[in-house]
Amino acid sequence: AQDEIKLLLLENISQDAVRAFEKQGFQVDHFTKAWSEEELIAKIGQYHAIGIRSKTKITEPVLKAASKLLVIGCFCIGTNQVDLVTAARAGIPVFNSPFSNSRSVAELVMAEIISLSRQLFDRAYEMRTGVWNKVSKNCYEIRGKTLGIVGYGHIGSQLSVLAESFGMRVLFYDVLILMPLGSARQVETLDELLSQSDFVTLHVPELPETTNMISAPQLAAMKKGAYLINNARGRVVDIPALVDAVKSGHLAGAALDVYPSEPGSNGSAFDDKLNSFATGLRSLPNIILTPHIGGSTEEAQRMIGDEVASALTRYLNYGSTIGAVNFPEVDLRAIAAEQANQVRVCHVHVNQPGVLREVNDILSPFNVEKQYTDSKGAVAYLMADIADVTPRDVQSIYDRISQTRANILT
Ligand code: NAD
Repeated sequence: AQDEIKLLLLENISQDAVRAFEKQGFQVDHFTKAWSEEELIAKIGQYHAIGIRSKTKITEPVLKAASKLLVIGCFCIGTNQVDLVTAARAGIPVFNSPFSNSRSVAELVMAEIISLSRQLFDRAYEMRTGVWNKVSKNCYEIRGKTLGIVGYGHIGSQLSVLAESFGMRVLFYDVLILMPLGSARQVETLDELLSQSDFVTLHVPELPETTNMISAPQLAAMKKGAYLINNARGRVVDIPALVDAVKSGHLAGAALDVYPSEPGSNGSAFDDKLNSFATGLRSLPNIILTPHIGGSTEEAQRMIGDEVASALTRYLNYGSTIGAVNFPEVDLRAIAAEQANQVRVCHVHVNQPGVLREVNDILSPFNVEKQYTDSKGAVAYLMADIADVTPRDVQSIYDRISQTRANILT
């Protein structure tokens, strides 16, 4: 029953999420701070689900102490704070919210395009230092200019629509063939995009193939006087090569929101030995440096709350693992309310031969309406909807599947 499910929410997760869980009938304990490993080990044993942000570390010892834990929700983008492999082996899926801030990033890029084109940050900085410097030379409107988007996923495609509404021409390059939005056009090679764009903006994930994807040869392939914008991941751009391209006057400016290494907390120095190139960057004209704020808006925070809360609820109520980062993704259409004697079997097990035969043997006296199974690494997950089942049958199926050799969770 819902009221037997206990949730622990740490790090001041949005009140909307708290209300959404309470509406489902779950018991919710919520706290504003992160908990230490000792605190978690002492108290996590009573909870079925936990919601955290980036500061609470869910380590192997914490997972060992979490005897009732069914699911973890990271109310943020990253999931490094969780030992994902140990969690999966313990049958615990982990959910996050990777796309809730796409619009926020796309809007920041529009602001950067205009700011670079009008040298806005340099003028505003001069005024702050008491200097009046009314300039129009090399300042341009963005209407009619070409924006080249590298990576046409959640953020790149949002940006495409915004840029066209400003009168820009949009080209994009992606490893997949994708449906262009509006009048945007996909090009076949990165070089084609670089040679035609007045602004190049990066929206690819960090992968071995995208590390230093923009280095000296790619910068040289860009138009003279073009601008580079990176809100993706720090390692996608070879920053010393970018410094050279701006210094030589080949590029007219750049905006960076992400860096190969980023300080861990607010107030830290940015240009210490972590980012040895930073001093060079800071002294160049028309460079916008921001501290990884692309997705940092109130709206994105709210969306994260809604998205992760609904993923946890879907897992606790229906066993759906769609969107889990460490787990096989399994779902079936929801059981219709009128089919009250239908039951969903959710069985997380070790990924080894023979399991399906064993489980299907147990289910064989019943009518299996739907069944789906998938695996990821060492863990597999089977979901089956069976009809005409009595409460006694449910207990017997539960007991028998629990005793199978590969069972992790039934
Ligand atoms: P996404 O997965 O929706 O889209 C990425 C796109 O890049 C996909 O269409 C994919 O096919 C394409 N791609 C992958 N490899 C490629 C390659 N080698 N060449 C060309 N295209 C390639 O991701 P998204 O949500 O749009 O995010 C894009 C990037 O933005 C990610 O790196 C993400 O971490 C970063 N991000 C940054 C912030 C911030 O605060 N600055 C916020 C959110 C996301």
